[in-house]
Amino acid sequence: MIKYFCNFFNKKGQNEQMVEPVYVTKHSITNQFISKNALKVIKHINTNGYKAYLVGGAVRDILQDIAPKDFDVATDAKPEKIKQLFKNSFLIGRRFRLAHIKFGREVIEVATFRGNCNSFSSKKRIFDSRGLLLRDNVYGNISDDVWRRDFTVNSLYYCPQESMLIDYTGGIKDLAKKQMRVIGDPAQRYAEDPVRMIRAIRYAVKLDFTIEKNSSKAIIANNKLILNIAAERLFIEVVKTFYGGFGLKSFNKMHEYGFINLLFPQLSSLLVKNKLYPHAEELISRAMYNTDRRYKEGKSLSNTYLFVVLLWPVVQAEIAVMDKEKGHYMVKVNNAIKNTIETYSAVVAIPKNVFEVIADVWLLQFNMINREKEKVDTLLNNNKFRMAYDFLMLRAQAGEEIHGLASWWHNFYAADNDLRAEMLFKHAERIKQSRAFARKRHSRHKNQVRKVNK
Ligand code: ATP
Ligand code: MG
Repeated sequence: MIKYFCNFFNKKGQNEQMVEPVYVTKHSITNQFISKNALKVIKHINTNGYKAYLVGGAVRDILQDIAPKDFDVATDAKPEKIKQLFKNSFLIGRRFRLAHIKFGREVIEVATFRGNCNSFSSKKRIFDSRGLLLRDNVYGNISDDVWRRDFTVNSLYYCPQESMLIDYTGGIKDLAKKQMRVIGDPAQRYAEDPVRMIRAIRYAVKLDFTIEKNSSKAIIANNKLILNIAAERLFIEVVKTFYGGFGLKSFNKMHEYGFINLLFPQLSSLLVKNKLYPHAEELISRAMYNTDRRYKEGKSLSNTYLFVVLLWPVVQAEIAVMDKEKGHYMVKVNNAIKNTIETYSAVVAIPKNVFEVIADVWLLQFNMINREKEKVDTLLNNNKFRMAYDFLMLRAQAGEEIHGLASWWHNFYAADNDLRAEMLFKHAERIKQSRAFARKRHSRHKNQVRKVNK
């Protein structure tokens, strides 16, 4: 692959340097909204003679009266210096080197100002032939760094010591207009890092903003670039987008911009009522709605469950197609599960330990049909049973014709031991009766055939 060194595509570098920032002292940020650890980090960097600011989502969110998810710091100290200054820090990332400073469960991310690079020999900023930024470790000062961020509203810097906001890119105006605007030329910035298109959607949904016209048009025109992103990074971005508390809205926006079609092509065709599995839209809407509620209640969310839901319509459609062929039903089920996982783990690298659980939860859907006592005992002892049970209920709510099965499990799960024993007994009796009935019908049919043949 051809590699272009340096900021080959960005010809604006010179003018950007000349923009005078807007300094704002009247604003709604006070230090009480900022994590004590982030303030400590900034202060310690300052005391050692370097500049440090709060930047990114925390500044943006506090100005919108939203509690920040995390606190990011930008500084002119190099990552190695940060490592020296903080014993509890470690350096991460090759593409984009950063320091993480750990305080118990909280991590403060410290990024060194990215700079312009006018020499073509630098190996610190590397693009590939498509304009994809492979590495960005050219350091500079704040007036360079502001232009390397993704959106104007993410490029506001806050100095806690002076209680001062610094805005180079027009972020304050865009916050007032409630819009996500890409810094620089949208097509070029998306080509550098296509994840920015998904970030535009994620933050527009979260903040209830629009995506500025040119930034939005360029997503439609360039959405296919998303497939240039490493599958591992896509997995993380998909999870963040659907599990950020606005899963339902994000899913719809991702669909509107063509990303569901690109990332989950078979699912996309099932979202318009499709005979192969007509419940896809309802299943996903309900799952996203429940997930958003759990997020607001501060409950845990499982990556596995997300993919159990998103890919179930694909498995069901595959089974429906295979059902017309000869062969044992469970062999077809196993093949459908295997095909789906193989196809999708190549696009959004679903880690092996996650997809093993996904496959188990899907298989349990079929195992739950058999309610003999020994089988039920084994199911109850399976550590994926709870997830499988929740998913069974979701499928019934979405309109799959499994109401009898779902309500049996619902009642069984809520029952005490005596009632459970009674339910199992009754179920066994019912199976016995229907087997006897089937045998009788079969022998009557055989007799009739014999009579006809005589
Ligand atoms: P949140 O943390 O609430 O999800 P955030 O905007 O802080 O939102 P982070 O992923 O924490 O998102 O990134 C911190 C900041 O780093 C961003 O606000 C933005 O300025 C910059 N940034 C992150 N990702 C990119 C990217 N792909 N391209 C350019 N700048 C980015
Ligand atoms: Mg952040």
